[in-house]
Amino acid sequence: MEIPNESFAEPFVQPITDAETERQEILRRYRRLLRAMRPFLKKGDKKLVRAAFEMALEAHAQTRRKSGEPYIYHPLEVARIAVEEIGLGTTSAICALLHDVVEDTDTGLNDIEREFGNVVARIIDGLTKISGLYNRHTNPSEQAENYRKMLLTLADDVRVILIKLADRLHNMRTLESMSKDKQLKIASETTFLFAPLAHRLGLYAIKSELEDLSLKYTHTEIYRDIARKLQETKARRDRFIREFIEPVRAAMNGTGLQFEIKGRPKSIVSIWNKMQKQGITFDQVYDLFAIRIIMDSRPEFEKADCWRAYSVVTDLYQPNPNRLRDWISTPKANGYESLHTTVMGPGGRWVEVQIRTKRMNEIAEKGLAAHWKYKDGQSDSAFDEWLRRIRDVLENPEPNALEFIDEFKLQLYAKDVFAFTPKGDLIKLPGGATALDFAFEIHTDIGMKCIGAKANHKIVPLSYPLQNGDQVEILTSGIQKPRADWMGFVTTAKARNKIRHALREHKRELAQEGKAQLERKLRQWKITGHDGLIQRLASHFKASSLLDFYQLIATERIAINDIQAYLAGEKSVSKKAKAPRLNEDNFERMVRSSNPTTDDMLVIDGGIQKIDYQLASCCHPIPGDEIFGFVTIGEGIKIHRVNCPNAVNLLSKYSYRVVKAKWTLASEVSFLAGIKITGIDDVGIIRNLSDVISGDLKVNMRSISVVSNDGIFEGSIMVYVNDTRQLDTLIKKLKAVKGIQTIDRIDASEED
Ligand code: MN
Repeated sequence: MEIPNESFAEPFVQPITDAETERQEILRRYRRLLRAMRPFLKKGDKKLVRAAFEMALEAHAQTRRKSGEPYIYHPLEVARIAVEEIGLGTTSAICALLHDVVEDTDTGLNDIEREFGNVVARIIDGLTKISGLYNRHTNPSEQAENYRKMLLTLADDVRVILIKLADRLHNMRTLESMSKDKQLKIASETTFLFAPLAHRLGLYAIKSELEDLSLKYTHTEIYRDIARKLQETKARRDRFIREFIEPVRAAMNGTGLQFEIKGRPKSIVSIWNKMQKQGITFDQVYDLFAIRIIMDSRPEFEKADCWRAYSVVTDLYQPNPNRLRDWISTPKANGYESLHTTVMGPGGRWVEVQIRTKRMNEIAEKGLAAHWKYKDGQSDSAFDEWLRRIRDVLENPEPNALEFIDEFKLQLYAKDVFAFTPKGDLIKLPGGATALDFAFEIHTDIGMKCIGAKANHKIVPLSYPLQNGDQVEILTSGIQKPRADWMGFVTTAKARNKIRHALREHKRELAQEGKAQLERKLRQWKITGHDGLIQRLASHFKASSLLDFYQLIATERIAINDIQAYLAGEKSVSKKAKAPRLNEDNFERMVRSSNPTTDDMLVIDGGIQKIDYQLASCCHPIPGDEIFGFVTIGEGIKIHRVNCPNAVNLLSKYSYRVVKAKWTLASEVSFLAGIKITGIDDVGIIRNLSDVISGDLKVNMRSISVVSNDGIFEGSIMVYVNDTRQLDTLIKKLKAVKGIQTIDRIDASEED
């Protein structure tokens, strides 16, 4: 007996360290991936795959999975699943190797793009966007919902989805080491989203595995119970299958067809579904397995061979006529082809028999990827064609794919738009939503202080309609306040309400200012006890409320001078009006006198002539404007502009009182119109403006008022013009005045 001399023993080989074991295991897995890729690796591909592997290896060097394994196992496995189990090619393998690099490490998308080009970078960006959503929502079904919609928006490159499926499959296979609540969350998401997706893409094997693994974590008891019973009944079942197959095999041999026949256990989930749906126990489920006959047929004989086999089986066993499914003549939308029948087996038990060729079987297991293998081999164009097919399937569910519509409710989501924050959070908004809506969706304060936006790093207007997948950054400023024109391009109720509220608030502040201003003046003029007086003033100046009245004073749309003049007993409040005042009473008369032969200066359709009409004072229509008539009670017909602030209300509530109207001839008559101007304050600005108006264009100005604030002025001018053409010319000329920033026509006038 030999006694080792410990003190002198030199180890013959260096003991293998843990790090060394791991290194070898990593290489073993890498070589396994390369082996799977060998059939389609082209010259130069291997170098790229190697580079991707090395980049991933380095990026993840410091990280381990929850199980304690080196992180790199995960991307290696995902790549192998993508290639071996889904049938994807080199680009996808590279993307799979790098799929967690951008999200989890310092390596950026730029690095990847530089090294592997923009297709790889784009796919990884897509994968990262999906992952960016992870862990942000507590409710798993909500999370799944987001994923589902995201996947649909990312359908431009289906490889994103397929690699995500590979990723998910590997995560499900290694779910054991996660915490209980993570397990539940990931598993429910898988049932809800990834399994149906795999089904849709024809990846049956992956679908079944995902479902079974999910059930294992979401309904652990049920899963274990069924798995145990399957195990217990296995011997008996195998015996039955042998008994069933025996005569079939003999008869098939007599036909000379090349075939393979076997019993295939059904997935635990499909058994569980059956138990639930039919309210039966495990023992009552008759189809715990299916018999599958797979034939090696020449392409031109596939269909005939399948029916031949069908004939053999049904000669031996009585078929149930209600359970014949022919997906050979009409394949399923996802590409599935097979002939299914259910026959009465030994002992009166129903048995499902699936008949297909090898090609059909491969399609059933690997989905559409297999289609192309049988067509053009693995050429790039065939691959692209395959991707296009999947995209079509995702985007245009065929009429016979009702199940798909049920599963995904595509049309529902077509109305939504999905965009990302710079951090990768998904923001879902109704279709047509703008950058401003996005700002309010993130946070009310961000909306309120919003001054601009960038979509995909480019500056866009706040009114920019979001596109699916946009990454949106909102620019804010501490001094920004919501503006009235924002109401024109926000679509969400949330943003509208917030803006409206803020505008009201602003108006209230203004009113307080105006009130203080008026009170100061009244004191100055030594007028006291003015409660009733202010009511009177407000109604004289046609303010709709006291609040409104004060606000009009604050914004100088009611001039203090005019109030003083009114109080001094003067009738005329406007000193600048030069043109005859055109009111409703003399309008028709003027029209007639200027155009005596006809009274169709204003035509109102429907044959009504010589009617009693007035131009509405809320919007001051002028010839050239689109108009409509509104039948009032006691005041005849009022003519409004189609874009009058009151129009929507009138048209929607009292459409029966609306009459069509249009202008016919231009005329010498002038009409009152208002212009709103903003610009940079300058000493001579008012003079320059009036020079253009009354000098160059000889337009009569009724009034002008300007409010200056911190170097910015805002003003309104009321002018008499013949028609929109003249008004447009005027606006164009005024725009050219130095310092002017905006000029718009105003809907409501300051007087009347
Ligand atoms: Mn991953």
